[in-house]
Amino acid sequence: MSVDSRAELASRDRIEGRDKRAGSNLYTLFMQAPAIICVLRGPDHVFDLVNPLYRQLFGDRELLGKPVREAIPELEGQGFFELLDQVFRTGEPYIGRESRAVLKSGDGDAGQESFFNFIYQPMYDGRKQIEGVMVFAFEVTEQVRARREMEQLAESLRQANREKDEFIAVISHELRTPLTSILGWARMLRLGGLDEQTQLEALNAIERSTQAQVKLIEDLLDEARIASGKLRLEMRTIDLLSLLQPAVAGLVPAAEGKNILIDADLGSDPCPVLADPSRLQQVIWNVLSNAVKFTPHGGTISIRLRRAEDARIDIRDSGAGIEPELLPHIFDRFRQGDPGASQRRGGLGLGLAIARHLVALHGGTIEAQSEGEGKGTTFTIHLPLATATGERFVERDRDRKVALPRLDGIRVLIVDDEADNREVIAAIAQRCGAEAMVTATAASGLDVLRRWRPDMIVCDIALPDMDGCLFLERVRALAPEEGGQTPALALTVLSARAEQERILASGFQIYRQKPIEPADLAHDIARLAASRVA
Ligand code: ADP
Repeated sequence: MSVDSRAELASRDRIEGRDKRAGSNLYTLFMQAPAIICVLRGPDHVFDLVNPLYRQLFGDRELLGKPVREAIPELEGQGFFELLDQVFRTGEPYIGRESRAVLKSGDGDAGQESFFNFIYQPMYDGRKQIEGVMVFAFEVTEQVRARREMEQLAESLRQANREKDEFIAVISHELRTPLTSILGWARMLRLGGLDEQTQLEALNAIERSTQAQVKLIEDLLDEARIASGKLRLEMRTIDLLSLLQPAVAGLVPAAEGKNILIDADLGSDPCPVLADPSRLQQVIWNVLSNAVKFTPHGGTISIRLRRAEDARIDIRDSGAGIEPELLPHIFDRFRQGDPGASQRRGGLGLGLAIARHLVALHGGTIEAQSEGEGKGTTFTIHLPLATATGERFVERDRDRKVALPRLDGIRVLIVDDEADNREVIAAIAQRCGAEAMVTATAASGLDVLRRWRPDMIVCDIALPDMDGCLFLERVRALAPEEGGQTPALALTVLSARAEQERILASGFQIYRQKPIEPADLAHDIARLAASRVA
């Protein structure tokens, strides 16, 4: 018989005492109780009774007849022994709530964090002297963990909510800034009295501010696409040199404005990479425009292209530099340097986060280095080289933005519920010599189509009475002599691929995302009118 079993019999005898039956019932009750129970006797808290749930906590070890400090040494330093001493000394019960204990179920056990609600209840003998302490405990580890998880979740929701509020504040600031310029200059132009030079500057400022807004919205959409995993690339082999050259050339006007020297060393050998050209151009533009943004007057920006085991682009500026604490985070979304300075310089802190994602989708890397504040920054982009020869990347002809084609004799039907939009589209068409008719609804669009027989249709997708795609399906259902084959261009605010497919499937020849450049629209009208079946 083991020491413990003997001690157990002894403790049983003690409980059963003189009144055997009542004592036996009590013993059975302790042993079967759905609580962790033990009885400790004397000032050293010697185990006198341990029920199976208590024993289960401490694994296979001798408890009965041993002082608690000796039997469970790992509890030393966790506060329980001091509490037992206190209860034995004062005779005051102690109630513990969600108390943390690290328990070992055996010798090799590293210890496990658990939580208990418990009562240390003093026990008195017949002379009202304290003879021991009875322990009742309930394990609440699961409840505590679940509550902590809930608390963490609540805290991260609160944090996300704060970030969202800050983000909305930054967005509204960023969207308002260009609007101030647009509104201000538009009002000034209406008032008149500006000399020719100032009028030109006003128009330039309006254009610039509008483009800044478009860029902000594009970045936000890209960010949403990245977050939902919907950003897709259209890869082909291109010559990186042909992409970098125009990007560097495009930097010149902004750099000249700040008297910044551009030192480009791109070499002349082709540099084939597998890429989505417009997305790669977006990455390079982002880094280059940051370089201009953060470099003061009279600084230098150098751009290098190296071909070795991969293609390596270095863009170094002599500007503001980046503090070491910020450097590891500049590719995080919504992360900007000193908010004061960044607010003045504009931006949402999304450009580099998008750039890193895009470069990673190309199988490459983008890194930043800076010696610190005021000491310039170098961005290095690595891209894998392609084996095939790259086609030249041809950027859209910048002159198209100003050179309008002639559209004499072409009839354009414009269907758009937004009065300002249809008026400006009509004005562009008329400016090129076309005839234009505008309608605000699909129903009147169908009516005008039959009566007036335009050469092409420009149609908004979000119409009040009928979706633009459905409108076009109705058009295509008409007989040719009723205008059923009239070429059509869709204007949409959505750029999702599914939306584009839906638009083309309904019978549109071209779709364009708003806002559209007037010259692009005029060229599209020319192209569609030329394609119509005579
Ligand atoms: P933003 O559009 O707000 O500039 P980015 O993601 O492009 O956002 O850049 C994030 C931050 O990285 C900037 O706010 C700035 O603090 C820092 N940064 C980026 N490029 C440079 C640079 N060339 N020189 C100094 N700081 C830079």
